[in-house]
Amino acid sequence: MLQLDSITKSYTTGDFTQQALAGVSIAFRDNEFVAILGPSGSGKTTLLNIIGCLDKYDSGDLIIDGVSTKQYKDRDWDTYRNNRVGFVFQSYNLIPHQSVLANVELALTLSGVSPAERKERALKALEEVGLKDHANKRPNQLSGGQAQRVAIARALVNNPTIVLADEPTGALDSKTSVDVMNLLTEIARDRLVVMVTHNPDLADTYANRIVNLADGQIVGDTNPFDPATEPAPEPKPVRRTAMSFFTALSLSAQNLWTKKGRTIMTAFAGSIGIIGIALILALATSANNYIRSVEEETLSEYPLTITRSGFSISAMMGGTPTESNAVDDADGANGEEAESAPTRPDDSVRVAKMLTTMVRGIGSNDLVALKAFLDANGGNIHDYARSIEYSYGITPLLYAKNPAGNWQQVNPYTAVSDYTTSSLSSSYFS
Ligand code: ADP
Ligand code: MG
Repeated sequence: MLQLDSITKSYTTGDFTQQALAGVSIAFRDNEFVAILGPSGSGKTTLLNIIGCLDKYDSGDLIIDGVSTKQYKDRDWDTYRNNRVGFVFQSYNLIPHQSVLANVELALTLSGVSPAERKERALKALEEVGLKDHANKRPNQLSGGQAQRVAIARALVNNPTIVLADEPTGALDSKTSVDVMNLLTEIARDRLVVMVTHNPDLADTYANRIVNLADGQIVGDTNPFDPATEPAPEPKPVRRTAMSFFTALSLSAQNLWTKKGRTIMTAFAGSIGIIGIALILALATSANNYIRSVEEETLSEYPLTITRSGFSISAMMGGTPTESNAVDDADGANGEEAESAPTRPDDSVRVAKMLTTMVRGIGSNDLVALKAFLDANGGNIHDYARSIEYSYGITPLLYAKNPAGNWQQVNPYTAVSDYTTSSLSSSYFS
């Protein structure tokens, strides 16, 4: 049983508010054919959408099987819409790229029915509306009357208890209208059918209750129903709405496939973001690599020089008094400071002997061993050094005979200085 209690609904567009329903109270029997009549804009479609829960009322209450829908959660609304109600629209609302059979089956995919049973039930529903032979056609290959009958088959395939039809014959000629009306009358035998129409003749001929609507209010009812006077029948068990994972997957895949262009564009747009991130990472990495290579090049300009003798500047500067004294202790033969070493009280004043430390720090490097080590590529030195040069600190004196037959020193080269001195002296003395 379906009952509306002071339902209101208004639509606001911009700063204009249109009151579509202004307090509608009506109850429907479980089994009747109701026609809703009224001029255009009187709120017929709005009323039907609220009965079918395609739209939410502003105030009032919709009572389904004695239960107020004020407590309904989204899941309850889904269950009601999918299992209790079947819709038939004026413009059929069939999916153009799917076959007639698939269109009817679609209503069952939300009910968790197996594909084989889906097909069987869809064919049965098509048979009931006399269109079994057209099952594999596309909706645009059907006449208007046939398309509306497919829509009725789709509304019936779930075996709903309520069928809502919004001007089902609005787009049909009078002959095919009769077919559709006969079908709806047939359906209304064991269901509630609520049909919106603006054709009073059709309503008179077929419906067993006519409700008149004007300006969002009920102005006439030929067969009113008061639920308080008639006993409410037992509520029927409700099926839950569920879709198997595989069905959901195949529906999504099908949907993606039918909108190839949009899918590709979306994928492309999504990948721009990923490509952008990859690009930034690549740039950052290569900039880092470049900086590192520049650093290497720059540092290689400053060679590391190892000389035979040297001293550690850091040892000289950083040597604390204690450390320098410790050195003294190590070789006690070292002059005057050693005397105080054995009996040094804790509060003694310690002396930082920087110069001594420095002079003593001068040591000699074992360059022969180092060269042998480097020649054997010790420590993989050739991986880290571009070149290794040895300088022996010797300046060989080399002489060669010049074309004039005189001996001339070529290393260190003296020709220039000889010339300048000699020319200077000659000019000076001459
Ligand atoms: P009917 O089906 O009887 O012709 P409707 O129920 O479609 O009338 O509409 C009733 C009133 O509500 C109309 O004045 C219409 O303009 C308005 N209306 C309906 N739907 C909307 C909407 N979605 N947004 C704004 N106004 C709407
Ligand atoms: Mg309408």
